[in-house]
Amino acid sequence: MRFILCFFLVFSTFSNSQNNYPQDYFRSPLEIPLILSGNFGELRSNHFHSGLDIKTQQREGLKAVACADGFVSRIKIAHFGYGKALYITHPNGYTTVYGHLQSFSPEIEAYIKKQQYEKESYEIELFPSAETLPVTKGSLVAYTGNTGGSGGPHLHFEIRNKEEHPINPMLFGIDIKDNSKPIVSSIYAYALDENATVNKLSSKQKLRLIPLKSGDYTTESIEAYGNIGFGIETTDRQDLAANSNGVYNMQTFLNGNQNFEVDFSEFSFDESSCINQYIDYEHYINSRQRIQKLFKKNNPLSLLKPTLNDGILTIKDSTSSVYKIRVSDFKNNETFVTINIKGKKPTNFNPKPGKTTPYYITANQSTNLKLGNVSVDFYPDTFYENFYIDFDVNNDTLNLHKDVVPTRKNFTIKYDISNYKDADKDKLYIARLVGYKKYPVYSSTQRDGNILSTSTKTLGTYALATDTVKPTISAINFKDGQWLSNYRFLKVKIDDAISGISNYRATVSGKWILMEYDYKTDTLTYDFNDGIVTDTKNDFKLIVTDNVGNSTTFEATFFRK
Ligand SMILES: [Zn+2]
Repeated sequence: MRFILCFFLVFSTFSNSQNNYPQDYFRSPLEIPLILSGNFGELRSNHFHSGLDIKTQQREGLKAVACADGFVSRIKIAHFGYGKALYITHPNGYTTVYGHLQSFSPEIEAYIKKQQYEKESYEIELFPSAETLPVTKGSLVAYTGNTGGSGGPHLHFEIRNKEEHPINPMLFGIDIKDNSKPIVSSIYAYALDENATVNKLSSKQKLRLIPLKSGDYTTESIEAYGNIGFGIETTDRQDLAANSNGVYNMQTFLNGNQNFEVDFSEFSFDESSCINQYIDYEHYINSRQRIQKLFKKNNPLSLLKPTLNDGILTIKDSTSSVYKIRVSDFKNNETFVTINIKGKKPTNFNPKPGKTTPYYITANQSTNLKLGNVSVDFYPDTFYENFYIDFDVNNDTLNLHKDVVPTRKNFTIKYDISNYKDADKDKLYIARLVGYKKYPVYSSTQRDGNILSTSTKTLGTYALATDTVKPTISAINFKDGQWLSNYRFLKVKIDDAISGISNYRATVSGKWILMEYDYKTDTLTYDFNDGIVTDTKNDFKLIVTDNVGNSTTFEATFFRK
C-alpha cells in the first residue's frame, strides 16, 4: 500500500497543475489578449524556442509592462538575435525577458542612450544595479517592435530561473487558450542497428498514417526485427491563431509500458543545439521537415526524460506488440497514434555495409585532418556519434562531408595563404559554398600572419574567396546641402555585396552620433531628438567597413535652424 502511495506522489509532480512554480505571481507582459505565433520549446533552426512569441496585432509600439515588481538587471542591444532586449529580475529569483523591442520607457531609454554615447556604440550590453532602474508590476518598461532576428512585429517573452534556464511561461499560469488536439502529420520507423529491419528493410520507412474518427491515428501494421525506433512530425495549434506551434509532451508505450518521454518545460541554453541530434537532421537538411525522434541515442538533452529503454524497442521473431504514442499540448489535449508490430526475422537479409572513408571520427576524441594548405581541427565531443567523414582538398576548395551530421560544438578550419601575393592576402576570406550554385557565404574569418581561420558548426564545402568591393552608402531622406529643420530622422542606406558589413561610424561636425542599424532594411537611422545636432551648418560623415576591411566614406552637409 505504501508503495502505491509513493507512486502517486511521484506521478503527481509531473502534472501541469501541481508544479512548484509560483502561480499568479507574473501578470501578462502586454495589455492585449495573448495570442501566440510561437510557443515554448518549439523546433527552430539550431535551437529550441526559449519563450513565447506573442502577436502584437501586426504592429509595433504596443506597451510592454513589467510582469512583477523587480529591477532592470540587463539590457542588451544587438543587430541580430533579440535586437533590443530588456531583462527584469524579480525578488523571487526569476528573470523575465522582453525581446525584439522597438524602444524603452523614457527613463530606461535615457539611461541606455547615455551609455551608448559614452561607448560610441549602438550595440551595447548593460547590467544595471538593483537600485538603478527599479520597476513595479504593470508599469510601462518598453514598446514592442521587430528588432533583431524577428520576421514580423511580436514580443518574445521568456521566464528564466536563477541558473538562466528558460522555463515554459505557461507553468507560471500565463494562460493561453487551447482547445485543439495536437496534429500528427507523419510517422517514420527506423532500424537502429545493422541487423535490424522494418518491413524487411534497413532504411527508414515512412508509415501510412490512418486518421480515426476520434482524432487519433493508427498506421499500417509493420513487420520488424531487432532494435527499432520511431519518429514523428507533429504540431499544435492554440485558439485564435493559425500558427503551427510545438507540442508540450510526448510519451510512448510498448505493450502498455512507458519507454520514452520528451517534455518541453525547461532546458538550458547550452543544450539547445542538441535539437539537431533530437530531430532527424539529415532528413531536415534534405526536406526542411522536422521529424522528432521518439528514441534517445547519444543525446544529452535534458528534455528527454530518463526511461528504461530510451524509446528503443527490441523486437524478437514471432512476436506481436502494440506501440502507442501519446502527444499532448499544455492544456492536456491529447492525440494517440497506435502501431501494431509483428516480430519477424527476415530470411536472406544481408545488411548493407555502411560507407567508409580513410577518415574516421571518434566522437569523444580530437581529430586533426590536413591536406595541402588546409587543416581542420575537431575537438572532443564536436560530434554526437562516431562516423567516417568525407575529407578532400582541391586547390583551395575543402570538401568536408555534407551538412547532414549534427555537431555539438564549433570546430576550426585553417588555410595557409603564404602562396598568395601580399596585396591579395588582405582581401581573402573563408567562405562556405552553399546551394547548387556554390554561392560563397562569408564565414567569420580571423587572420594571423599567413593563416586564415574560421570557427564553425557546419560541415560542407569551404573555399577561399576574395572581396575587393567596397560597401555602398546612399542617403534615403535628404540631399547634400539641404535644410532639414523639421526632420525627426536622418536615414541612410548601407550595403555590402560580398563579405558583409562589419562596422560603421557616423559623426556630425566631428561628434559621434548614434545611428541604429536595421540589417533587414539595410538602414541606419539617427534621431534628431538625441540633441547632438545644435548648429546651423552640419557636416555629416559616415564610414562603413566590410568584413575584410574595405571601407567607404560618405560625406554631406545639411542645415538646421
Ligand atoms: Zn521568440
